[in-house]
Amino acid sequence: MSIVCEQCSSSRIGWDAWVDQDGNVIGGPYDNCLCMDCGSSSILRKEMFDIRFHLGAGKHYKHWQIKDGKNVTYLEPTKYSLIMNDCVLKNNRNKAEKVFQSKRRDVCGFVRCLEYKVVDRCHTDAMFLEPEVKYEIMFDPKIAPYWRKHNDPDAYDNLTYCKLITNGRRIFVA
Ligand SMILES: [Zn+2]
Repeated sequence: MSIVCEQCSSSRIGWDAWVDQDGNVIGGPYDNCLCMDCGSSSILRKEMFDIRFHLGAGKHYKHWQIKDGKNVTYLEPTKYSLIMNDCVLKNNRNKAEKVFQSKRRDVCGFVRCLEYKVVDRCHTDAMFLEPEVKYEIMFDPKIAPYWRKHNDPDAYDNLTYCKLITNGRRIFVA
């Protein structure tokens, strides 16, 4: 979950917690929030979603996996496209380096976003997204241990994007 100010979008939020006699947080830890930048008490609590291409064996093999903490959802990439907003490219670089060396797959990269929409490709033109697309981003730690852009050797880990769109198993910046 991320917490942002509704007025100025700052993420510098001060909050008082209910604590017991030993100082341990009990109950709602975000009681009485205040924005440190503009002083507003209108604070939004946004859920975050972690989205990655699932390669674990089983019936969801090669499906998009969407995690929001407690819930996990899978989507068939040929049937659905994901439109993700307010995204950051996350990577466990240490794990990714190991995969790169050993060529043995492990879970290390994902897109973290604040919201997403599912588009049913069966009822829309599969190519309808194309005019919006700027470039492709890719993650395959067997080839490079970081997020990268098509035809670019640089690491794109931790970069943020307003909007990412999946097309099949590929991810595009829009
Ligand atoms: Zn504020």
